[in-house]
Amino acid sequence: MDTVQLHDKQFQIFISKDKIKKAIAHLALQVMEDMDDQETPVFIGILNGSFMFVADFVREYKKDCHLSFVKLASYQGTNSTGKIKQLVGVNEDLKGKTVVILEDIIDTGNTLAEIYEIFREQEVKQLKIATLFFKPDVFKKDLPIDYIGIPIEDRFIVGYGLDYDGLGRNLPDVYQLMNN
Ligand code: 5GP
Repeated sequence: MDTVQLHDKQFQIFISKDKIKKAIAHLALQVMEDMDDQETPVFIGILNGSFMFVADFVREYKKDCHLSFVKLASYQGTNSTGKIKQLVGVNEDLKGKTVVILEDIIDTGNTLAEIYEIFREQEVKQLKIATLFFKPDVFKKDLPIDYIGIPIEDRFIVGYGLDYDGLGRNLPDVYQLMNN
């Protein structure tokens, strides 16, 4: 399939599943090499977009690890800042653990900033960030990203877990929005 139609928009093939597979194998190897032998990391996937990435990543990670998924949910706060993000799904105590966040894509970095904010309170030993896709031209934050799979230009993508208004998450390859 060279193009797909999702709702009102057309997308063209951009990154093949084979290229994604190689990038993930490389990411997993980098994380493994950096990990102290005594260390059992807790991988935390940020839902919904990261589910496919995480499933493939942990199959390439050949040492012991723990795995959890979390969701960032907005709720209307009662204070003046209005919307506050909250983490849903962390049931285990992360205190003193090495946590590696697995993100599908980092764009502006707003989500990443919230993740840093939330995990600071958890008193983890080490917090590392791995993202499959990264848009360097849009990223505005002065925050470290430890592992980057595939840097991409600033165009909207779908597939491999990423959606356009609910559709496209099941596509094995990644597609890019077409200019009309
Ligand atoms: P950020 O907070 O870094 O701006 O954006 C992070 C979130 O925005 C991602 O987790 C993802 O849900 C969404 N996002 C950013 N860029 C894209 C894109 O190109 N395609 C899709 N489907 N979602 C994106």
